[in-house]
Amino acid sequence: MIQTVNLQKLFATEEVETTALNGINMEVRDGEFVAIMGPSGCGKSTLLNILGLLDNPSEGEYNFYGTPVARMTERQRAQLRKGSIGFVFQSFNLIDELTVYENVELPLLYLKTPPDERKARVEEALERMSIMHRRNHFPQQLSGGQQQRTAIARAVVAKPKLILADEPTGNLDSKNGEEVMKLLGELNDEGTTIIMVTHSPYDAGFAHRIVNLFDGKVVTENFHV
Ligand code: ATP
Ligand code: MG
Repeated sequence: MIQTVNLQKLFATEEVETTALNGINMEVRDGEFVAIMGPSGCGKSTLLNILGLLDNPSEGEYNFYGTPVARMTERQRAQLRKGSIGFVFQSFNLIDELTVYENVELPLLYLKTPPDERKARVEEALERMSIMHRRNHFPQQLSGGQQQRTAIARAVVAKPKLILADEPTGNLDSKNGEEVMKLLGELNDEGTTIIMVTHSPYDAGFAHRIVNLFDGKVVTENFHV
C-alpha cells in the first residue's frame, strides 16, 4: 500500500512561487487501478512524480510500501524505484539511439539481471506487447502506438508492483489508445497496481476509482462499481 499525508509541493523561482500540491491525503491499496483527473496545472504530474519517487514533497509524509520516503535523497529514491515502479509517459520517453529491444532491456541492465534471464524477459515483454517484429527498429521508425507499446514493455519488463502512467494515450488515436488501455487493464487484472493521470473519461472508465484534483487538492473521489 502507498499512503500520503498532507503532501505539499512548492515550486519557487525568482519571480513566482507556485503551490502545486496543497495537502494531498491519498491511499492506494495493492491491486487498485486509480485514475487522477483535473484541469491543466492542478498538480497531477507533480503528484505522480512524487508518488513515483522521482521527486520529494516540500512538506508531508509519504509511506511507500512500509518505507517513509518523503525526505530521502535522490540516490535512495533511485535505489527504491529500481524494479518496483514502471513509468509510462504521454511522450513515450524512449531513447532514440537505442533499438526497441535495447530500450526494453534497459531496466534489467540496471538491475544486473543475468543475460539468459534478461533475454527471456525482454522477449516475453515484446511478445506480450505485440512489438517483437519491430525489435531491431529505432523509436523514430515506429508509429505512436508501437512506441507506446514499447514503453509499456519497458515499464513491465522488471515486473514492478506499481505502474505510473501520465496521460498514456495523450498522443494516440482512439484505436491505439484503446489498445494501450486494454493492456494496462490486463496488467491490473494480474495484480499490478496502476495509477494513471488522464484527461479522458473513456480511459478513466478502466479505473476502479477516480481522484479529482483541483488547485493541488483532492476535491472528490468516485468509485466505479
Ligand atoms: P497538465 O494537465 O497540463 O499536464 P498538471 O495537472 O500535470 O497539468 P503540473 O505539471 O503538476 O500540472 O503542474 C502544477 C503546477 O506546478 C503548475 O502551475 C506548474 O506550472 C507548476 N510546476 C510544475 N513543475 C514545476 C517546476 N519544475 N518548476 C516550477 N513550477 C512547476
Ligand atoms: Mg501533467
